[in-house]
Amino acid sequence: MKLVKVKGIVIREVAYKDNDKIITILTDTLGKVSAIAKGAKKTNSQFLASSQYLVYSEFVLYQNTSYYYLNSASVINTFYNLRIDFDKLQIVFEMTKLINSVTDENQDCDKILKLFLNTIYALDKYEKDTKLIINAFKIKLFTVLGFAPRQDKCANCSKSLLDSDNKSVYYDYINNNFICEECCTSVDLKSKIQISIATYNAILFVIRSDFKKIFSFELKSYKDFELFGQVFTDSVLSGL
Ligand SMILES: [Zn+2]
Repeated sequence: MKLVKVKGIVIREVAYKDNDKIITILTDTLGKVSAIAKGAKKTNSQFLASSQYLVYSEFVLYQNTSYYYLNSASVINTFYNLRIDFDKLQIVFEMTKLINSVTDENQDCDKILKLFLNTIYALDKYEKDTKLIINAFKIKLFTVLGFAPRQDKCANCSKSLLDSDNKSVYYDYINNNFICEECCTSVDLKSKIQISIATYNAILFVIRSDFKKIFSFELKSYKDFELFGQVFTDSVLSGL
């Protein structure tokens, strides 16, 4: 029986038979895997904590037929403060639902794991606006998956969007690119949303920064940032 040691966080748990659970773990080296935690529902189980949603652990797994099973586990972080904060927990649910929908079993998830851990640490520790955190997470998640919008230049006239006097830019969610203010008077606006230049800068910052830094910015208002996060996410998901 070959044992494999991984670090990972539980992003879904379902009851299985009388006392067992099937947990979905986002791991550092095996990708997203489902594993059976035998006896995890018993109060004296060694897997009682490590098999719960949002608990980050070091797991030792073994494979039997097509399933992984937990052999042992030691908890690294339970994110206790998050799980008792109803509002923050709703955001975490939204994130894990999204991760589950865009990843396949055994798909390499190392970067997504790092992004997710950084995001929930930020949600746990910082008093940042939660709209900043969830939307920065979405933008970075789809950047990691290869869906970042074309940036820098207006998709219509190729002028730099940063050097101009634009107060706003337009995001074209059909073509996943940006259009300058001048061009917007001459092109069809049906599939575009207007966002402030400050928000545009914040989007570029999130796309280009290391995972640890993506929450290190402030905006006077997160309205446009939230709108972009939602529209961008919906348009990428509808094309998947
Ligand atoms: Zn233009």
